[in-house]
Amino acid sequence: MIVTERIAEIHPGLFRVELPLPIRPTNVNVYLFHQGRQSVLVDTGLCSEESLDVLDDALREAGCEWSDIALTICTHYHPDHYGASRKIKELSGCDVLMHKADADYLLQSLLLDAGDYRSFLLSHGIPVNREHSFPPAVRVLQRYYLPVVPDRYIADGEHLAIGDLHLEVIWTPGHSPGHVALNWRAAKILLSGDHLLPDITPHVGIHTGMEGDPLNCYLASLRKLEHLEIDRVLPAHGACFGNHRARIRDIFRHHEERQRNILDALGDKAMTAYDLALAFFDSSLPLLHKEIAAYETLAHLELMSKSLMVRAQKNDGVIRYRV
Ligand SMILES: [Zn+2]
Ligand SMILES: [Zn+2]
Repeated sequence: MIVTERIAEIHPGLFRVELPLPIRPTNVNVYLFHQGRQSVLVDTGLCSEESLDVLDDALREAGCEWSDIALTICTHYHPDHYGASRKIKELSGCDVLMHKADADYLLQSLLLDAGDYRSFLLSHGIPVNREHSFPPAVRVLQRYYLPVVPDRYIADGEHLAIGDLHLEVIWTPGHSPGHVALNWRAAKILLSGDHLLPDITPHVGIHTGMEGDPLNCYLASLRKLEHLEIDRVLPAHGACFGNHRARIRDIFRHHEERQRNILDALGDKAMTAYDLALAFFDSSLPLLHKEIAAYETLAHLELMSKSLMVRAQKNDGVIRYRV
């Protein structure tokens, strides 16, 4: 069994490779099913020289050639999961698969009107600066992100048979609209992407132009995993873990606690999503982090509005919430 700093064989033929990220979390785990010419990679890491070098070394250590990779499955469109897809396709000739909802959302985010973006921010009390002249997806694409058009889209419930490997696709929207987890039933292993993580809860937020109620989707997607008979969860960030039902219960408790905190912070006041976010997060954080915290708070507020726990009021273009 191979175990070095960056690569570990966690099941015969299944390798976890930790690829570096420049910000926290500082690693993303990609997974390699090494089965000769029909090897499968799950997620790509960023398109950075450092990340691709680590992946190149790891493949060599696992005895896998680039040309052995027949398929790359991206759990979702975020740069640490899909960012190096074009490069990996060039090196290996593999097919790249992803859920269509993420491809559509990425395209929509790129075509977002910067004016709409800025008015969305202002409507939730988020300060606007020069950075906001471009939609976030355009800013992200400038660094570490070189995606390729997927060869094929994957759908909920689909069974992917690659050599001896059978993976079931479970659509788990919430963290992103087209996030998928992969269930390897024969080994009782779930590859959970960013949906179910051992130490942190993934970002679930409402962003400009986003329709619907992502936190409700996220919680419903967690419920989808509860009944699975799995021994180990292989997440995209952090260590492998067991007892997925206990972790799911923890995450539900975390979100219920956040709802109570929001109600306490509101009291009899009316507050914007940004002001509420500052009540829970360190106000000395960079604006980008506070902006992300406001998106998360907004996802809670949307869910709470649906169950009439809070109501939104718009005055002079600014949306405030009250109990
Ligand atoms: Zn993600
Ligand atoms: Zn991630």
